[in-house]
Amino acid sequence: MRFASLGSGSDGNGLVVEAGSTRVLMDCGFGLADSQARLARLGLQASDLAGIVVTHEHGDHLGGVGRLARKHKLTVWLTAGTLAMAQDFDGVAVQVIDSHAAFAVDALDIQPFPVPHDAREPVQYVFGDGNRRLGVLTDTGSSTQHIEAMLAGVDALVLECNHDAAMLENGPYPASLKRRVGGRFGHLENGQSAALLDRLKHDKLQCVMAAHVSQKNNTAALAQRALAGVLDCADNDVRVACQTTGFDWIRI
Ligand SMILES: [Zn+2]
Ligand SMILES: [Zn+2]
Repeated sequence: MRFASLGSGSDGNGLVVEAGSTRVLMDCGFGLADSQARLARLGLQASDLAGIVVTHEHGDHLGGVGRLARKHKLTVWLTAGTLAMAQDFDGVAVQVIDSHAAFAVDALDIQPFPVPHDAREPVQYVFGDGNRRLGVLTDTGSSTQHIEAMLAGVDALVLECNHDAAMLENGPYPASLKRRVGGRFGHLENGQSAALLDRLKHDKLQCVMAAHVSQKNNTAALAQRALAGVLDCADNDVRVACQTTGFDWIRI
């Protein structure tokens, strides 16, 4: 299986996961033309997608889902809580998922799991093809035993490194937003991400991508340094999902 990012960060997210000829898009926080251009960079058209799986209702994840799904008749999988918060979903084919129940989209096995984040019913996902597994964890304010059980043994991990604690503290956000982002239901900071990775790392973990890196409260270099310390590699060997270009296909 392989995966690629359309872009990652608070201005928009989208991740394509492919197993055989089955492709799903996880989240779409970009406008219609932008989404199509970003898919084209990966050699894809929207009609190549089997559908869209959604993590939660925040605009950087759900903002572009309704339009893309309606235009290309794509099925959308999401929790009841996320659906309740979704706007602009008239005419979209939806499948409501249980946040604890695995489901299949053709060749892809998809396991959702709940995360502590300030949304109605947020989940993140593990994708598998029966042979390899990719875990994705962004938009969580803290880790839980359940998250770590779900991500144990994955072959690849896309892991939020949202902010640097000192940069958030000294940065431009108003105090209320600082509390929200840094709180239990906000986003992971570099040190939390590194500690989590330290608990998850194992011999067969072949790829770790730093993701959802804040452009105001973090730098790619700080995220790389945090994860490289755990992976015992050079800082530059840690790859970072970029807001504008995401990252190209990675095969596992
Ligand atoms: Zn987000
Ligand atoms: Zn969010």
